[in-house]
Amino acid sequence: MAPRITELTHDSARELVLAAGLPEYRAKQLFNWVFAKGVLDVGRMRNLPSAFRTHLETVFDVGPPKVRAIESDRQSTTEKFLFDVGAGESVEAVLIMEGDRSTICLSTQVGCPVKCGFCASGLFGLKRNLTRGEILDQYLAIRTRAAELGRPITNAVVMGMGEPMLNIPNLLPALETMNDPEGCGLGARHITVSTVGVKKGVERFTEEPRQYTLAFSLHAPNDALRAEIVPFPAAMTCAEIVDAARNYLEAKGREVTFEYVLLDEVNSRPSHARELAELLQDVRGTVNLIPFNAVDEQPFRRPPDHVIDLFAEDLRYRGLKVTVRKRKGHDIAAACGQLRLRNMPIVGS
Ligand code: SAH
Repeated sequence: MAPRITELTHDSARELVLAAGLPEYRAKQLFNWVFAKGVLDVGRMRNLPSAFRTHLETVFDVGPPKVRAIESDRQSTTEKFLFDVGAGESVEAVLIMEGDRSTICLSTQVGCPVKCGFCASGLFGLKRNLTRGEILDQYLAIRTRAAELGRPITNAVVMGMGEPMLNIPNLLPALETMNDPEGCGLGARHITVSTVGVKKGVERFTEEPRQYTLAFSLHAPNDALRAEIVPFPAAMTCAEIVDAARNYLEAKGREVTFEYVLLDEVNSRPSHARELAELLQDVRGTVNLIPFNAVDEQPFRRPPDHVIDLFAEDLRYRGLKVTVRKRKGHDIAAACGQLRLRNMPIVGS
């Protein structure tokens, strides 16, 4: 099948226009339609010669990506999209609207090999990596929807399905186009990539000159407990994550975020707070506490509010910067993989 029009790059646009005997500036116009304006129907690319537009239709799969389901929560602060990526597979992306902020949450893989105990994305393992164009398709479709609601996109977080650091060859070019002033034009600092910590990928990401924000899904204060919650042998250890956080600050001047999903009785006791404060005492960053969002198939529970508050206060008392993620979108299954799970025709493949 022809590649998506969102696979277009500056180079391939130039090659296409030159091969069609057109002047080079046409490449900029084409790139601008796709990524700056998000227009994926060639019929609407009015300033391009019509013969060239017809040609584009034979080279690319054009038009908006296929969306299988959309759900919004009752307060209309989140809208969740299920994108059809072929072969009966789908990935999720979310528009999160809070005050003046409008954030797009993106997926990088179909499924996930990490299989965190609390997360629905890994229930069926990893199917495949998403391409650069499939990642950008999510961004553009949701940005278009946000524009209809009068909401310009202010942030992007790579916190949907998949482990982004295992898909660096497609992730980095996708982020580059998101950040490109001639592309989507979103500031690098407003783009956050979340990872369980995969050494090679994190090292490569740290070498990137763009000042993206990095978040580690830590979820436990020691390696033994972390191995139970994040059962991925290739995941970095707690000490390696702390080291990588320091390196990132040194290389980019950017503090990292440590995400910590709070699971009742499992990682939310006062002793865990104490241990976490010790682990992070010499590294600058913010702990983002994420109260667990129930997934039916999983054995965990969300801690009661007083336990969440106590955990946060304990960390603050011990000198850490702490934020607690607000309850949001749980009525539309906003946590990773939950919408896909409900829309799966066959369970147990
Ligand atoms: N693989 C990467 C990117 C996925 S984002 C990573 O693990 O960082 C993963 C984040 O999704 C977790 O840090 C957590 O914040 C969130 N998450 C997934 N399932 C959740 C659930 N059931 N409840 C609350 N948060 C969840």
